[in-house]
Order: sequence, then structure tokens, then C-alpha cells
Amino acid sequence: MASPLKSLVNDDSRYQKSFQLFLERSSEHKCMRDFIHNKLPDILASIGDGKSHLNVIGVGSGAGEIDLEMLSELHQKHPGVTVDNEVVEPSSQQLHNYRVLVSQKPDLDYIKFTWNKMTAAQFEQHWKVKKMTKKADFIHMIQMLYYVKDPGVTINFFQSLLGKNGKLLIILVSGESGWGKLWRTYRNQLCDKEISQCVTTGDIKNILDSEGVSYQSYELPSQMDISECFTQGDENGELLLDFLTEVLDFSKTASPELRAGVLNLLRHPDCSVESEGKVIFNNNLGVIVIDQLP
Ligand code: SAH
Repeated sequence: MASPLKSLVNDDSRYQKSFQLFLERSSEHKCMRDFIHNKLPDILASIGDGKSHLNVIGVGSGAGEIDLEMLSELHQKHPGVTVDNEVVEPSSQQLHNYRVLVSQKPDLDYIKFTWNKMTAAQFEQHWKVKKMTKKADFIHMIQMLYYVKDPGVTINFFQSLLGKNGKLLIILVSGESGWGKLWRTYRNQLCDKEISQCVTTGDIKNILDSEGVSYQSYELPSQMDISECFTQGDENGELLLDFLTEVLDFSKTASPELRAGVLNLLRHPDCSVESEGKVIFNNNLGVIVIDQLP
């Protein structure tokens, strides 16, 4: 039977609203910041090969909060270098938010921003049509590989843009997270076949292993408070459920069986722990760092 469920990503305004609430209910950005301040500096230390100018590409940057933190660490590791920062982001709302954020931050004069309002696939096209030969020193794609058709192909293209000592950083939910369990159980009912959507760093590692690509990896512990999902009719709960299932208006459009099954699984010990009356979902992230092609 064809699925009547619509994907959340097709409604940018509801997607952004539910993503914002997810950020408020989870330690998503906090655990990324910990990684950026504690581990990323060592990863960035070797890039650039002594050049006075670095090329950076951010793919799926959202509102840029995380990007600017990474650029700040880059600046501290390589003081005095200038940075060319290509932002690849299809949502005009998010690009706008990013530009506003940049306009409010002092001391970003060392960065030249290029705003590409496009998807990763369109950027690849654009790069090939323009026969660009520029090489990148640091490319990152944080929580975006769900939205491409074939993550392996996307990774191969961006890896091919890396110059000497360049690094490609990928962050996605970990295969060991509640997300991984939810997707392994309900992939056929929930996941959009047009895009990879239900992909975890576990899947990416399998792809890289099968291609013989070497990488470093890290696990970042993270949590998400999903208690509101269990109060029927709660507006925040519905937004969070849309985000978790990536289905637009999940509560209203899913069959009662699917809804009950998903809610049961979400509070199952495989996905969550219950403590002090709250249901805390395992939002662990995985980080993968890939070097320039050998
Ligand atoms: N990196 C940010 C935002 C993650 S949300 C952070 O971690 O906070 C995912 C982002 O990917 C959204 O901003 C969305 O607009 C963008 N996106 C969606 N489809 C995309 C595609 N095909 N190519 C590039 N970015 C995409």
C-alpha cells in the first residue's frame, strides 16, 4: 500500500518550527559545542598546509550557530589566515537567519562569506558547470546527509574537493541512538524513499568500509526530553513527534496502529530512559572525519 504520509521536509515553515523546539528540548547543540571546543581544534590543527588562506565549505548550515563556533576555533588555531567560507543551504529562511547572525557578530572580518541558496546536489552541479578547480581545506556537513538521495555519492563528491591535508567532517545521529532503533523498526512506514532520510553514522561507516575509505570517528552523548509527546493533543508534543518521525502532522495522518506503535517504541528502554517523570530519548550523535583522497 502506498504511504499517505507526507514528509516534514516538504513544509519548511513547520520543519523549522519543529527543529527549533527540538534544539530547545535536547542537548544537541551543547554536545556539538563540547566536541567543537575539545576535539575539533586538534583535527583542524593540521589543515591548510601552512597557507595564509583557507577554503571552507558548510553544507546544510542552517542558521549558522554551529558553523560560526567552528570558524572561531579555526581562527584560534590559525590566527592571521583569511577564510573563504561557502555556505550551501537551500532554505531561504535559514540563510537569512545565518546572515543576520553574521551581521551581529564583531570580528568576522577575516571571513568572506559566499551564500549559495541551493541543495548539496545543486552545488555539485554548479561546481561542475563552472569547472571550479578550487580545493577546500575544511568541509562540514552537520545533520544534513538525511536530505540527499545517496549519501555515499555526496560524500565522494565533497571528499574529491579536499586539498592537501583537507578534512571532511560529518555529524549525524549515531546508529546506537534512539533514532537508529526507531528507524530500524519503522523504516518502511516512516522514511521518505526519495531521500536517504533514515541514515545514521553506523550506515555511513558501512558505506565507507565497503569502499575502503578510512576515517576517524567519535560518539557524542546527547539527550532529548520527549515527555510532551505522550500528552495527546499537546501542541509541542505534536511538533516533536513530527520531528522524530519526519512526517508532517504525524498524529493526524498516521494510522492509529502506527501512532500507537511509534509512541510505545519511543518510551521503550531501547530508545529512552524514564526519570523524575520525564521521558528522555537517546539522541547520541556520531562524528566521522575523512581525509583527502589518497
Ligand atoms: N547544520 C545545522 C542545521 C541542521 S538541520 C545544525 O546542525 O544546526 C538540516 C539543514 O539541512 C537545514 O537547514 C536544511 O534546510 C538543510 N538541507 C535540507 N536539504 C538539504 C540538501 N539537499 N542539501 C543541503 N542542505 C539541505
